[in-house]
Amino acid sequence: MATHSTKMLILGSGPAGLSAAIYGARAGMSPIVVQGIQPGGQLTTTTDVENYPGFADVIQGPWLMEQMEKQAVHVGTRMMWDTITGVDLSRRPFRLTGDGGDVYQGEVLVIATGAQAKWLGLDSEQALKGKGASACATCDGFFYRGKTVAVIGGGNTAVEEALYLTNHSDDVTLIHRRDSLRAERILQERLHAHPNIRVLWNKEVREFVDGGGNVGLVGLRLEDTVTGEESRIDADGAFVAIGHHPATELFRGHLDLDDDGYVAVETGSTRTSVAGVFACGDVMDKHYRQAVTAAGTGCMAALDAERFLAAVEFEELREAAE
Ligand code: FAD
Ligand code: NAP
Repeated sequence: MATHSTKMLILGSGPAGLSAAIYGARAGMSPIVVQGIQPGGQLTTTTDVENYPGFADVIQGPWLMEQMEKQAVHVGTRMMWDTITGVDLSRRPFRLTGDGGDVYQGEVLVIATGAQAKWLGLDSEQALKGKGASACATCDGFFYRGKTVAVIGGGNTAVEEALYLTNHSDDVTLIHRRDSLRAERILQERLHAHPNIRVLWNKEVREFVDGGGNVGLVGLRLEDTVTGEESRIDADGAFVAIGHHPATELFRGHLDLDDDGYVAVETGSTRTSVAGVFACGDVMDKHYRQAVTAAGTGCMAALDAERFLAAVEFEELREAAE
C-alpha cells in the first residue's frame, strides 16, 4: 500500500478533470489524476463528436480524450489507475483511499467524477445505443436531420430536448408515462404551442425496434400505462431523458450536495462547502452537461485552486513572520 502526495489531487479523468490537470500542471501544482473505472470519461463511450471547438472535421470521442490525457501528461500530470472508495475531507491535506488501499493526499482536491444518464434498462435499448438510442439530444440530434425522432420523459430535460430537436426534425414525439408533465410551466407552454411536437400520454416504451442489418432503430413499441394497450410508432432516433445520476455517493455527508445530489458550488465559481475542495464538470452541472462546459469548469477549478493555495501560503508566511 502506497501513499501518493501532491499539491493538487484530481478525481476523474473526463474533460473536466483533464482540463483542471492541464491548467494545474502549468501553474506548478503537480497534479495527480485518479482515473476511476472510466478513463477518459463519458466521451469514450461515443463515436462522432462534432461540437467540440477546434476541429473542423468530425472527431471521435475516445481519440479526443486520448489527446487530452496526452496533453495533461505532457505538461506534468501524473495519471493513476485507481478507483476511490473512501474520502476524508475533515482536514488538509485531504485524503482519498483507493479500492486497493493506496492513499492519495492533496493540499487541494478537485472533484470531477461526472454524471451518468439514466436509461430505461431494456435489452433492446442497450443493443441500439449509438444506433438510434441516445441520452443526449444536444450531442446527437444533429445526426437525425430531417428524420423522425422521439423523446422519453416528462421533466425539464425531456421537454428541452424535444424543443431542441425541432431544430433538426419536423416530426418530434414526446412520450411520457403519466398524463401530466413535471417540467416547468413555461417549458410546457412552449412544448404544447409547437406545431412539430406531439405528446403521447400514459405510454411506456417496451422495445426499441431494430431495423436489422446496419439500419439501426426504426421504431418504438409502446404500452399504455392505463389500458395496457400496445402500439408502435416510427422513430429513427429515440432520446431517453429521464434524469441523470451524479457520481457523488462518495461525498455524501462530507460536503454539501443540492437536492438532486449534485455537488453544490458557490454561484460563478467551483468552490464547494469545504474550503480547498473544488468541483467541476457534470458532477456540479445539471444544466449544460457538455464536454466543452466540463472542460471550461475544469479550467475554473484549477484557477480557483491556485488562488486558494496562494492565499493559504501567504497566510502561513505572514504567521511565520509574526
Ligand atoms: P465524465 O466524462 O463523466 O468523467 C467522469 C470521470 O470520473 C471518469 O473518468 C470516471 O472514471 C471518474 N470517476 C467517477 N467516480 C470515480 C471514483 N470513485 N474514483 C475515481 N474516478 C472516478 N458532450 C459533448 O460536448 N459533445 C458530444 O458529442 C457528446 N456526446 C456524448 C455522447 C454520449 C454517449 C455521452 C454519454 C455523453 C456525451 N456528451 C457529449 C457529454 C459529455 O461526455 C459530458 O458532458 C462530459 O464527459 C462530462 O465530463 P466530466 O469530466 O464532468 O465527467
Ligand atoms: P426529472 O425532473 O427527475 O424528470 C425525469 C422524468 O423522467 C420524469 O418525468 C419521470 O416521470 C420520467 N421518468 C423517470 N424514470 C422513468 C422511467 N423509468 N420510465 C419512464 N419515464 C421515467 O429529471 P430531469 O428532467 O433530467 O431534471 C433533473 C433536474 O434538473 C430537475 O431539478 C430539473 O428541474 C433540472 N433541470 C432544469 C432545467 C432548466 O431549468 N432549464 C433543465 C434541465 C434540468 P414522472 O414524472 O412520472 O416521475
